[in-house]
Amino acid sequence: MTSQRTRDRLVERLREKGIKNERVLEVMRTTPRHIFVDEAMAHRAYEDTALPIGHGQTISQPYTVARMSEVLLADGIPDVVLEVGTGSGYQSAILSRLVPKVYTVERISALLQRAREAHHLMGLLNVFSKHSDGTWGWPPNAPYPAIMVTAAPEQVPPSLLQQLAVGGRMVIPVGGVGRRQQLKLFIRHEDSIEEKNLEIAHFVPLLDGAVR
Ligand code: SAH
Repeated sequence: MTSQRTRDRLVERLREKGIKNERVLEVMRTTPRHIFVDEAMAHRAYEDTALPIGHGQTISQPYTVARMSEVLLADGIPDVVLEVGTGSGYQSAILSRLVPKVYTVERISALLQRAREAHHLMGLLNVFSKHSDGTWGWPPNAPYPAIMVTAAPEQVPPSLLQQLAVGGRMVIPVGGVGRRQQLKLFIRHEDSIEEKNLEIAHFVPLLDGAVR
């Protein structure tokens, strides 16, 4: 159930659903997802669905992970990505195999601990994580050429837009709690910010404050 054949089938589904970036597809094919969920959920790890990871949170749907990665990389490979909402650590593991360096921020300490263990198990050395409210980004390392937000705010946090480098891309779901959200792409130009609507998405809400 966690075999390579099961993963190959998942990648075929992602292809059918429109994912085109071959590097993203290859990384999805060769990255274990079952180590990012509870053992009791492992048999469902290669279904194209979000799954509960405790604390009312979910590991994102594989299609969403692939799609957001593809959108972020569409203009070339950024040196570094800031992810807001580490959750299980699966999305950051995928990114860590696509870009040189990943910074990721999570507000729930217990989830971050588990994500760090999974990253350690995979031997990932280019993921740097922090326990804090990611609404404020991670200022010391800013600006970022790429930002990915994996929880939905009602409105785009201004600090995140401020931490986007010129030419940088930010992919973020925007919309109220319990509603469908609009996945958006922001591109910072020299003197303006371009905003594009992508597809409808379903994310857990971006919440204030860090908790144990
Ligand atoms: N990228 C994750 C998706 C996890 S769900 C994965 O691959 O599994 C979104 C996560 O965002 C949750 O773990 C939630 O706790 C976290 N989150 C919500 N609001 C946040 C905030 N303000 N700062 C940091 N993390 C936040």
